[in-house]
Amino acid sequence: MRAQPKASHFISGTWAEDPTGDVIESVFSATGEVIARLHEATPALIDRALDAALAAQADWAARAPVERGRILQRAAALLRARNRALSELETLDTGKPLQETLVADAASGADALEYFAGFAATVTGQTIPLGRDMAYTLREPLGVCAGIGAWNYPIQIACWKAAPALAFGNAMVFKPSEMTPLSALALAEIFAEAGLPAGLFNVLQGRGGVGAALASDPRVAKLSLTGSVPTGRKVAAAAGAALKPVTMELGGKSPLIIFDDADLDNAVGAAMLANFYSSGQICSNGTRVFAHRAVKPAFLQRLAARTAKIVGGDPLDEATQLGPLISEAHLARVLGYVAGAKAEGARLVCGGARLERPGAFMAPTVFADVTDSMTLAREEVFGPVMAVLDFDEEDEVIARANATEFGLAAGVFTRDLARAHRVIGRLQAGTCWINAYNLTPVEMPFGGVKASGYGRENGHAALEHYTRVKSVYLGLGDVDAPY
Ligand code: NAD
Repeated sequence: MRAQPKASHFISGTWAEDPTGDVIESVFSATGEVIARLHEATPALIDRALDAALAAQADWAARAPVERGRILQRAAALLRARNRALSELETLDTGKPLQETLVADAASGADALEYFAGFAATVTGQTIPLGRDMAYTLREPLGVCAGIGAWNYPIQIACWKAAPALAFGNAMVFKPSEMTPLSALALAEIFAEAGLPAGLFNVLQGRGGVGAALASDPRVAKLSLTGSVPTGRKVAAAAGAALKPVTMELGGKSPLIIFDDADLDNAVGAAMLANFYSSGQICSNGTRVFAHRAVKPAFLQRLAARTAKIVGGDPLDEATQLGPLISEAHLARVLGYVAGAKAEGARLVCGGARLERPGAFMAPTVFADVTDSMTLAREEVFGPVMAVLDFDEEDEVIARANATEFGLAAGVFTRDLARAHRVIGRLQAGTCWINAYNLTPVEMPFGGVKASGYGRENGHAALEHYTRVKSVYLGLGDVDAPY
């Protein structure tokens, strides 16, 4: 097996294994080849990881923030130095083309580590004058944070959670998705090499049961989940029962609105990125493309022409633009949505079938004449399937864009900046783009509203989610007691 790690888990600075745990296989979905075989974490290993995190956290929190930042900087440098090997691993584990993983995965993780490394030493509290007395506030870490990841951006998700958690003095136990267990282990090794003390970043493999065990364990002070809405509901319920703070990065059905004055070539390019990058397996994708009726024919014509040129193939070949989906099972689910869309009357413009080659490949697919009530316009498909809807009026498109349980992201293409800001102001979404789509620099907070979740990753906003405020009242005179 060409990507077999030294062991399944990484606990307290070293590899850990318990072969009695259920088997997890990582499959390269371009070929069906099993690239690694691991075991789920047993209760004893979960215990060990949480105890190790708990034991290491207090000393880490007591260190000068600049010192914590220095270690994260070293980890970022190692990620960058090993970007190619990490990208190849991510490509094998996810099936995403190397063309993407080389620029979007470990590199984005390194960005997060650099950003929060620098941020750590800038964190301060407030002083609050109260006349004779005063108060001040401290920003304290939360303790042990549990991170639970999805399979589409494994190392990026691990870094987006670990970087702020560690920078602000917490420890982390991270459970990657059972579909993509490998890169979090590589990250753990890199942290150890960068000098992160043992126990501060632990990796446990497992399916939902291991995640659920973390969510309900009293040693875990905070949870951050990237996953689907149904999982989010379960994890939030478990955390709610224990009154634990959570960050929820969940799914979406985001609108991308193209007005009649938009630069059409840019709008087409953005719509393609918003539906076909990572074979459409991106939470913030603009999967409901609202095209103004006046530009719809030209939009569809240019879209179909450019989509026909997308090169699918071996994801390890850097020329490949489109890799397979994560698994055969997921491909079957996505093809089910395609069949449903046809049955409900949507017009297939291109794609709609698996590629004629081995592996879980699917042609980039565009449906036009999609209406709001169709399943394709309501449910998250998580595949390379774009739904194009028509609209006439600004008020109308805003109301329709908001008519969904989700609220992760939204985009607007127009040359009229007043309209762009007006529309964005009325869209119910946590992350928005004007004349761009799906760019998620670490400096910008990222997250959703409504069923797409709550809390934010990245940017200054992350401070709120990995620290708590302690208020200290400082009495500077006599105590004024009435008895
Ligand atoms: P998923 O919900 O099936 O699994 C996510 C993680 O939760 C996995 O690690 C899984 O093992 C774990 N899990 C499952 N049941 C659990 C439980 N009861 N308790 C604790 N943990 C549990 O999601 P997925 O299929 O891995 O990923 C795709 C989904 O993730 C999509 O809906 C996508 O939109 C979403 N996503 C969101 C973001 C974001 O930042 N908003 C980013 C990427 C993916």
